[in-house]
Amino acid sequence: MPESLYDTLGVKKGASADEIKKAYRKLARQYHPDTNQGDKAAEERFKQVQTAYDVLSDTDKRKAYDRFGSTNGRAAPGPGGVNVDFGDFDWSGDLGDILGGIFGGAGRGGRRARPQPVRGSDVETQVRLSFEDSLRGAEAKVPVELTVACSQCGGTGAEPGTAPVICPECNGRGVVSESQGLFALSQPCPRCRGNGTVIEKPCSKCHGSGRERRRRTFSVKIKPGVKDGTKIRLKGKGEAGQNGGPNGDLIVVTRVETSPTYERRGDDLIVQVPVSFPTAALGGKVEVPTPEGAVSLKIPAGSEDGKLLRIKGRGAPKLTGSGKGDVLARVRIQVPKRVNKKERELLEELQKGVG
Ligand SMILES: [Zn+2]
Ligand SMILES: [Zn+2]
Repeated sequence: MPESLYDTLGVKKGASADEIKKAYRKLARQYHPDTNQGDKAAEERFKQVQTAYDVLSDTDKRKAYDRFGSTNGRAAPGPGGVNVDFGDFDWSGDLGDILGGIFGGAGRGGRRARPQPVRGSDVETQVRLSFEDSLRGAEAKVPVELTVACSQCGGTGAEPGTAPVICPECNGRGVVSESQGLFALSQPCPRCRGNGTVIEKPCSKCHGSGRERRRRTFSVKIKPGVKDGTKIRLKGKGEAGQNGGPNGDLIVVTRVETSPTYERRGDDLIVQVPVSFPTAALGGKVEVPTPEGAVSLKIPAGSEDGKLLRIKGRGAPKLTGSGKGDVLARVRIQVPKRVNKKERELLEELQKGVG
């Protein structure tokens, strides 16, 4: 003859609701898995205590238990035509599930809501780069504020030296059932939010959240050729996942300073090249800056102001594929502000010729 649920809690059959609650709390604390790590027997006992309390703390379930429990062997058909045989009852099983089958319709009432794995959030941050570094590539140190497990309580949320206790509202099941006649509606326990445990003395550092914000610095390799607004994804460096879920990613957005020399267009770099009027008219050579040093560029005769001359493969490194963009030299014809006597005569002659 197995022990009764009253025996499990160490109370008399006529015990009051208060006595049952008190006994349960004492035993739950004693056999809690957090304080008996790896102790299978304690874990088993803990389950039995939970099950016993689950039944005896519920007026309807307790009534049913008293009725069925007293008939040794085959019981009368339960509500909804369910046969409950306490004679073959497996005590390592979850009585809550069986009674949940009676009172909770499809039996869902007795099942514990397991917290689902949740992926951590992505975190976005910016890194500032000089224009030169955006072309050369760089190694940047990126500081990020992340939520991590509290260093004082290790993430439990309980003051060191104390442990979370079984939630008295749901008896550690994480769900509560609201009886409506023979049916019961299950919902996540509002007190423990489905965790099954509550913290009686919250950690003074994190106020029970188990988390704290901490600044971490990551080293980020910046590939040559990044643009203003390029996103670099660092897998798993974002916020921590919950319930065994994966971490989020860290997304580093590059902010590139503007250059006094170059204007970026795709992988091409536009540079303004001052060209004297005679050179533009007659043709000649000018020095054009490129990221890897000045090159000599041939200006064709008759070049107009604004003409773009292409210097192949001297632009920004391509992020996808290989090679580089081009440097586009924009001809800017310089008009002399002052002219000497000889220049004046030449220009006047030219003016007559044009007119
Ligand atoms: Zn803490
Ligand atoms: Zn609860």
